[in-house]
Amino acid sequence: MKAKYLMCPSYHGATVVSLMLNNHPDVTCLGDTLPPRSYDASCSCGNPVSSCAFWKEVENRMETDRFAQSERLLPYWPILLGSERINFLVNRSLEKLLLTGYFNLPITMLFRNHFKKTALISQTFYRLAMSYFDTKEFIDVKKPFLTIFAGNTLSRECPAKVLHITRDPRGYLYSFRKHKGNISPSIICRDWLRYHGSVERLKRPPFSYPVLTLRYEDLCRDPQDGVKQILSFFELSDENLMIKPGRNTHLIGNSKAINRFDGNLYIDTSWQMVLPQDLQDEVLEMTNPLAALYRYN
Ligand SMILES: [Zn+2]
Repeated sequence: MKAKYLMCPSYHGATVVSLMLNNHPDVTCLGDTLPPRSYDASCSCGNPVSSCAFWKEVENRMETDRFAQSERLLPYWPILLGSERINFLVNRSLEKLLLTGYFNLPITMLFRNHFKKTALISQTFYRLAMSYFDTKEFIDVKKPFLTIFAGNTLSRECPAKVLHITRDPRGYLYSFRKHKGNISPSIICRDWLRYHGSVERLKRPPFSYPVLTLRYEDLCRDPQDGVKQILSFFELSDENLMIKPGRNTHLIGNSKAINRFDGNLYIDTSWQMVLPQDLQDEVLEMTNPLAALYRYN
């Protein structure tokens, strides 16, 4: 099974694109969110996770009590060292080192067993989900780069295929602030650049992952064309994905976005009216050259 991923930062339409991909009869795509341990989240099937048949099956079959130290039902990052917080910082530092492209071999050798364990957890989860939904492919969403890299250490069919979604950094700033408050543009722009820069890095050696970059704006404007490109890239049969999902869909996440998805894609363009022109210019300046590469200027 060739690993397949959807990569994008928050507020880039990951939830609706996941629902769209999950509409394919051969595909399981469960979005980017795993059930949290601290509260009983709602599943898109209409039940809380604690009484959702699918997530209960995952809990039992994968014996998720093993990962009790993790904030989620399954670990999001490779478990390398220390508490959740320290492990996160170690992961981030390793990710930075790996993305320079010079340390892949020593890092892989040093953490081989950790990466293998991470890859095994992911693959067991994919197989369980595919068997539950009777599908042939699993597309994982917004996984940290180190988790994807770990997945490749176990696969004989690497590298992974990555569908990469971009969004206008001005729209990203607007959505980011709407949800998280009045955060400085330089922090938000740095976040956008860091994420998309790392995906651009994956396109080049020594990684050379096959990546399909699509603008979310284009996907909303012409979904048929976008879907055609995605299906051809993932080598999937031609199907109509722009339909309202059935009840047997088990995504956790933004319930507003999940309930609203009726087979159509919408994009919030109110930033064009709301953001002052000088702020828009500043954002474009701070996110170049990538903003220009993705034709946002
Ligand atoms: Zn469910």
